[in-house]
Amino acid sequence: MRPVLPPSFRRRARRVVTAAAVAAVVACPTTAGAVAPHGPVAPDPAAHEPLARYTAVVGWAPTEERTVGTPWTDGVAISPGLGRDVELQQLVDGAWMTRRSFPTGAGTWAAAVGLTGHWTQAPVTRWRLFVAGTADAAPATSGVKVVHASWEAGTDPADPTVLVTKDRAISPQGYRPGRLVEPDLATQGAWTELRPAAAKALGELAADAQDATGERLVLVSGFRPAGYQERLFDRYAARHGERAASRFSARSGHSEHQTGWAADVTQAGVPFTDFGGTPSSDWVDRHAWRYGYVVRYPRGAEDVTGYRGEPWHLRYVGTHLAAYLHHGGGTLEEAFGLSG
Ligand SMILES: [Zn+2]
Repeated sequence: MRPVLPPSFRRRARRVVTAAAVAAVVACPTTAGAVAPHGPVAPDPAAHEPLARYTAVVGWAPTEERTVGTPWTDGVAISPGLGRDVELQQLVDGAWMTRRSFPTGAGTWAAAVGLTGHWTQAPVTRWRLFVAGTADAAPATSGVKVVHASWEAGTDPADPTVLVTKDRAISPQGYRPGRLVEPDLATQGAWTELRPAAAKALGELAADAQDATGERLVLVSGFRPAGYQERLFDRYAARHGERAASRFSARSGHSEHQTGWAADVTQAGVPFTDFGGTPSSDWVDRHAWRYGYVVRYPRGAEDVTGYRGEPWHLRYVGTHLAAYLHHGGGTLEEAFGLSG
């Protein structure tokens, strides 16, 4: 025989049910029609009210564009609100994942939330507010909010999100990073130092690439000072003409190499200009983002970046922005909403 619950407990349980549970109860009269030990239970007026009487979530605008790192605020009315938690949830691979939880006061309440890097691995993300059910109120959700994320370009060369293009020079002119180190991989040539964070990530990337492909990665160019870049460009311009040279080489003050965040790599035994199409290059294309690197000048993006494809030129941007770019964010210019 089924144990019979005391009336007070049964009344509480009825109010907690979710919308899905309501459907299940209607379809299964044996659980819905629990019989009290001493005759029928007095009707509970609250149980017959629509669920919406207990909880409402409003004020969540449906579509917004947000720059990563900036907060947005929305007013949310929840009744009864006091003591309840509102969860900010993101749709990840088809499931709602709670990102933050906010305690509420009574009545109207405003949520101030920011879109942080690790929550924006895709250019478009979907969010909602969710209030879990309690003994006194049903669960509720807001409408889905579609957020188009963008990033803000860094201007400080010490910032891994710094944007350096043909139109945006490094400032101050002649800048040199404060600290540079040799990364832990094979190197060629005279300029093979990087900033410590970029060097550490590149060492890990190279070790994992070698495990996966059996081929060694070689760093052929890291930090390069402004004076060296000037001589390099002049040499290319003398050989190929200035216009042609500017499609594959930066002018002094406009090279990412001067920031200490860029690394030209190749596969051991292969000239770096032939790096594209090698097993190492294919691996780098697929996995560099996990280490905070991106292939900065992808093939087919010359109209955006100003450069022909350079499979060898890797740029450290940090793992959050690299993940965003890899998952459909495009080039740095596109993530920042700018053109080269
Ligand atoms: Zn380069």
